[in-house]
Amino acid sequence: MNAVKLDKKIVAFQLAKSPDDELGTENANTENAIEHIHEKVERPEKLLGSTYKVKTPLSDHALYITINDIVLNPGTDHELRRPFEVFINSKNMDHFHWVVALTRVISAVFRKGGDCTFLVEELKAVFDPRGGYFKSGGRFMPSLVAEIGEVIESHLHSIGLLEQEDMHEAQKAILEEKKQAYQEAKAETSKDGEFPPSAQLCMKCYTKAVIVMDGCMTCLNCGNSKCG
Ligand SMILES: [Zn+2]
Repeated sequence: MNAVKLDKKIVAFQLAKSPDDELGTENANTENAIEHIHEKVERPEKLLGSTYKVKTPLSDHALYITINDIVLNPGTDHELRRPFEVFINSKNMDHFHWVVALTRVISAVFRKGGDCTFLVEELKAVFDPRGGYFKSGGRFMPSLVAEIGEVIESHLHSIGLLEQEDMHEAQKAILEEKKQAYQEAKAETSKDGEFPPSAQLCMKCYTKAVIVMDGCMTCLNCGNSKCG
């Protein structure tokens, strides 16, 4: 450091900052300014949401599942859309008082912050002791709780919190080919996008899409295959 001779009295001084210091404080400030979800985040007056209609054989009336999202740090690089609350409604909610309880617990998990994607697997793994039901397209739904889990899953996909497990185009083509060959051999027809009527239930994806070809049990939906 160079010595500087002062001819005047020192009347005021300021501490020198190193460039690193300045950067450090700036980073810390941005970090503090980023809003994260936690219990104390107040509900804004207006929230964006999606409503999903679910028809089950359990009730004459459809269920409407609404998931509202909160957008944190809007307009910044840290913009994040997170689910904030869930409501379930139907014409007749009398039988579904436990559904109301479930939505309150799910909403609380959403608002608590952190990872909420585990909810999907937990809910989808619930089996109704009275037996589940089949959705159109031959997919087995083990319970209403599982159905709610699936709606949350598709919502988390749509807002980018869950990644879509997309099958490779090549694998899809192979399965489509197998389906065609199987239907020709069995002289069966099925509507577009549906699986052969004689297909069995796949225990991996719960879809009636398992066929036996060349001694191989293959699911035409998820590709799960067992040979023997
Ligand atoms: Zn499958």
